[in-house]
Amino acid sequence: MRIVVYPGSFNPITLGHTNIVERALDLFDKVVVAIGKSADKNSDSLVQKRIELCRYALAEFGEQVSVQSFDGLLVDFVKQQQTKFILRGLRTLTDYDYEYQMLEMNRHIDSNIEYVLLPTASRWSFLSSTRVREIAALGGDVSAFVHPVVAEYLQRASK
Ligand code: ADP
Repeated sequence: MRIVVYPGSFNPITLGHTNIVERALDLFDKVVVAIGKSADKNSDSLVQKRIELCRYALAEFGEQVSVQSFDGLLVDFVKQQQTKFILRGLRTLTDYDYEYQMLEMNRHIDSNIEYVLLPTASRWSFLSSTRVREIAALGGDVSAFVHPVVAEYLQRASK
């Protein structure tokens, strides 16, 4: 079974993320979406909410996708998942610079790690979780960018 770990903040998951997962399933049997906890030490409930929203948004893929959080080093989590593959999406050259730095760092920690970098679908190249959060916080409609359950959650949270 070919497994890939897709790490990120997913704050919140967008249709750009979902598109990367869908296309990765052409290459892998299973995608493990992994939400890092280290940056949010004090907000376990927020991480739980992100996990829950990811599970709703990715439910259409059934058992081929699982959503988990992880503590500690990504490379250790990847090994625990019995794989060496890390999936990331690329939108811009800025993404590439960032990813390349992370990639080199992680390969330095574990030379066995292999990265799969998928270019964004052009229709989602402008889409980021940050922009979605901003629009929702200002009362805007984000239903074109996220799963309906995510849009509803953001709408409620902004009131
Ligand atoms: P992080 O904080 O780790 O960058 P994100 O949740 O913002 O986490 O992104 C996770 C991954 O998904 C990153 O590789 C990012 O480049 C990718 N990604 C985010 N938005 C899009 C999009 N619209 N299209 C393709 N890939 C995306």
